Amino acid sequence: PGSGPSSPGKRRLGVMGGTFDPIHHGHLVAASEVAAQFHLDEVVFVPTGQPWQKTDRKVTPAEDRYLMTVIATAENPQFSVSRIDIDRGGPTYTTDTLRDLKALNPDTDLFFITGADALGQILTWRYTDELFSLAHFIGVTRPGHTLADPGLPEGGVSLVEVPALAISSTDCRARVAKGEPVWYLVPDGVVRYIDKRQLYRGE
Ligand code: ATP
Ligand code: MG
Repeated sequence: PGSGPSSPGKRRLGVMGGTFDPIHHGHLVAASEVAAQFHLDEVVFVPTGQPWQKTDRKVTPAEDRYLMTVIATAENPQFSVSRIDIDRGGPTYTTDTLRDLKALNPDTDLFFITGADALGQILTWRYTDELFSLAHFIGVTRPGHTLADPGLPEGGVSLVEVPALAISSTDCRARVAKGEPVWYLVPDGVVRYIDKRQLYRGE
């Protein structure tokens, strides 16, 4: 794959959306690897808004997920965090995220970074044509998830192999619930934040 669109003079902004419940080293390695391969100027992490409907599990309050994302990214000058999806409220649709980021960042090419698992569902997303006009999509491989025949538009999507980190937020939450360590799966500050706020205890 190429390295996506290259418009001279335009800023290159990576967009990493996620629930980040909690953020872990798989997310951070993926963002770092894509930033290097695609010569991104910055990667903005965008925690999702709080779902309205009851889903299969209770998602941690947005403010906690936001703060863990800030703690995890604070020391990397290339990483930042945006509250746009949280402040919009309700469930997050990627079209809204990209539309809002586009408006906030003129003269910028957006690169939406997503796991291959999520990319596999891309054609079921609403407004697919608009999505591809707003950003270049980058699917990162993730252990245990392969890309089913996507039939994705030419040139709109790149696939990137990141160093295999079999880490998921689901596993991190289960470990905390069982009293098992999450050291080195999530950044140290996130381990301490989870402990301080007593997150994931009763799951
Ligand atoms: P959960 O287990 O609750 O679904 P998660 O670990 O998948 O959480 P998300 O916040 O859903 O974390 O992920 C945000 C994005 O990061 C998604 O596009 C997901 O595919 C990707 N991602 C998650 N874990 C990894 C990993 N270990 N390596 C690469 N990408 C990952
Ligand atoms: Mg997930």
